[in-house]
Amino acid sequence: MNYSLSVLQIKEAIRDKLSHTFGVSLQNATNEEYYKAVALIVRELMAKGRAEFQQNAVRTETKRIYYLCMEFLLGRSLKNNLYNLGLEDNMREALSEFGIKLDHLYDQEPDAGLGNGGLGRLAACFLDGLATQGYPAMGYSLRYEYGLFKQKLVDGWQTELPDFWLPGGAVWMQAVPDNSVEVHFDGHIEEKWNDQYHSVKHKDYTTVTAVPYDLYVSGKDGRGISLLRVWKAENNAFDMNLFGGGNYMRAMEQQTMAEVITKVLYPEDDHAEGKLLRLTQQYFLVSASVQDIIRRHLFAHSNLDDLPKLVAIHLNDTHPVLAIPEMMRVMLDECGYDWESAWGIVKETVAYTNHTVMSEALETWKCDLVKMRLPRIYQIIEEINRRFWEEMKYKGVDYGKIARMAPISDGFVRMANLAVIGSHSVNGVSALHSDILKEDLFHDFYVEEPAKFTNVTNGIAHRRWLCQSNPKLSGLITELIGTDYIYDADKLSDLLKYQDDSSVLERLERIKHENKERLAEHLKRTQGLVVDPDSIFDVQVKRLHEYKRQHMNALSILATYQWLLDNPNADFAPRTWFFGAKAAPGYYFAKQIIQFISALADTINNDQRVNSKMKVVFVENYCVTWAETLIPAAEISEQISLAGTEASGTSNMKFMINGAVTLGTLDGANVEIHETVGDENILLFGMTASQVEEVKRSGYNPMQHYQHDQQIRRALDALNQGIKGKNFHDIYRAIIQQDRYMALADFQSYRAAQDRAVALYHDKRLWNRMSLINIAGAGRFAADRAIRDYAGNIWHGSPVPPEKNLAAKMSL
Ligand SMILES: *Cc1c(COP(=O)(O)O)cnc(C)c1O
Repeated sequence: MNYSLSVLQIKEAIRDKLSHTFGVSLQNATNEEYYKAVALIVRELMAKGRAEFQQNAVRTETKRIYYLCMEFLLGRSLKNNLYNLGLEDNMREALSEFGIKLDHLYDQEPDAGLGNGGLGRLAACFLDGLATQGYPAMGYSLRYEYGLFKQKLVDGWQTELPDFWLPGGAVWMQAVPDNSVEVHFDGHIEEKWNDQYHSVKHKDYTTVTAVPYDLYVSGKDGRGISLLRVWKAENNAFDMNLFGGGNYMRAMEQQTMAEVITKVLYPEDDHAEGKLLRLTQQYFLVSASVQDIIRRHLFAHSNLDDLPKLVAIHLNDTHPVLAIPEMMRVMLDECGYDWESAWGIVKETVAYTNHTVMSEALETWKCDLVKMRLPRIYQIIEEINRRFWEEMKYKGVDYGKIARMAPISDGFVRMANLAVIGSHSVNGVSALHSDILKEDLFHDFYVEEPAKFTNVTNGIAHRRWLCQSNPKLSGLITELIGTDYIYDADKLSDLLKYQDDSSVLERLERIKHENKERLAEHLKRTQGLVVDPDSIFDVQVKRLHEYKRQHMNALSILATYQWLLDNPNADFAPRTWFFGAKAAPGYYFAKQIIQFISALADTINNDQRVNSKMKVVFVENYCVTWAETLIPAAEISEQISLAGTEASGTSNMKFMINGAVTLGTLDGANVEIHETVGDENILLFGMTASQVEEVKRSGYNPMQHYQHDQQIRRALDALNQGIKGKNFHDIYRAIIQQDRYMALADFQSYRAAQDRAVALYHDKRLWNRMSLINIAGAGRFAADRAIRDYAGNIWHGSPVPPEKNLAAKMSL
């Protein structure tokens, strides 16, 4: 597929789209209409590219990869697609001839927030990696009408506004009503035996129609195009007959149920709530997707025997784990398979990634709830449970252990156990996390089936996070080592030969400074905030969660502020701390931490005694687009979760590839970042995961730190007394009484790492060298590498053979 379009062709296409689709002329069209016209042109190109890519995949019988995930945090698409298709320059020129700036059109696009944080962004980065390397892949998710809420701080308190993204986002999606499927809820099951033949009938169910919308994600140079299929829930028009049958209320109830399923993304990250609507969403995604996958397979094959050979289904976290019983349902009830054959096929096809070991995030569903909403699925889970017990008893496993491993226990379905039992591969997302899975969360399973467990460290779409969001750095790298790193991020290691080249190091410093200025101007323009690009930019951006310890960062800033007031003439390196974080709307403690940071910012930024040296910025509504401006400007990357709590982290990788130095604990992928860059090029602090375990075993008492450490006591007392007229007793008490994530235990070690950072920063040459070594080592954390790991070790798939790609000339 060749996507080249001349400036002339583009101009023609834009003129056409504006007049035919929007009925406006070049002169009268608004920027919004220009944006949509351009997006439609790009989408049509990708549709053709996808069709051709798909044909090649079918012809070569290349294994299909299906990635099921409740979240895809895509952010904006236009720039990414123009970049990947090599159309950005010509598009810019064509538009400028119409007097339109491409960058203004980028700003027309809403940030597609169909995800909460790292997990959803990972899924989006993987679609990029899959496409670029030519794997025939589809993502499946839901077409939420409202994405993750927009955050607005009112007097420091987070409030949530609905994110109605469709007006600007819908141009990327194409409805495919012909591929709609029905999803059944509620009702009851009737079982019959006729002549040995067991039949199961689901009666009096509610039908919801799942209508697919297709969205393309281009790979670099359009080698492959991934398809993200998102389902919209609609009323089943047929059921409107119920009106006539006197079932007026039932018909009405079904309608409201259908409409609400894909209304809104649940805004909880690393937290499971057990709400019926969430369960309904999960099954809706899974049932529609499994039916679609099987329909696609049966299009070319007479049965499902070869499914594991030709199809890999990946479950991103436990949210889509009902795919396992749903596949069983289709195979048993609709395709005539017996249990053993069906179970073998399901297990061989499905793989599962775990994303957290924190108990509050481990999903369980009340059996009653599952039984009521999904009666047939519940029967199947019960049967999986029964057979699991039989098998384990036969193997001689003791009952206590079986009870811990079983998918059903104490009236709850445990999704992680079901995932492990029903799949052939279980992986964590960093080396440390995968070890914890084996030693702790899934230890019992690991002992039974060690070969099932593996690791795939997360990765990021480096073309988005480096090439597109940091064009200056990307330009310098290209000048130094050529363009190979764009396709193969490991090539970034060629930069190592410049680690002692002062002219390169100085240019690196200049680029960082320009990115800091770009951020400063953006803040000035959009929020009237003034920050000093000559100060150190220290950034912590991620979801607000106690385990991520934003409060430890804030408490340390408070201690620094108190110290600077006492030592006004001290030599102090000016510093700007940036925070960006959304809290789950019902997570009260997290919201209080945001309020604490805001009050602290308010105090420090308005205190004439310090505000030329210290500044604190809380960026409202942190999202992918914000990340793309903040991260290239960062010098210190705060990755300070308590060791053993962050499964991997991916923002740590984004910072690294943009030349920021990690200041962090040995947690998640920080461990591997440390391994890559060595002691000299990372600022480590705090307990290790095993030290944390040890302290917990011997009984952790935060009060001791409060009593014996004057700096901690003073900062906490200030918090308790209140800042800017707001009291923070709750945070104070939670820390001195419990301190679940041991911020006080790591506090002084954290402060010492901060001091080391400042000392190193004074030697700019040394700092720039650290920065370069981080960029050079970031190849290991590319999504491309993660995808190769998944394909090689888990999916056993390969890319569509490139020599079989037809080179077709593009025409509009
Ligand atoms: C990368 C990313 C995340 C994940 O950040 P972590 O620090 O790894 O938790 C969350 N939100 C957005 C918008 C991101 O781009």
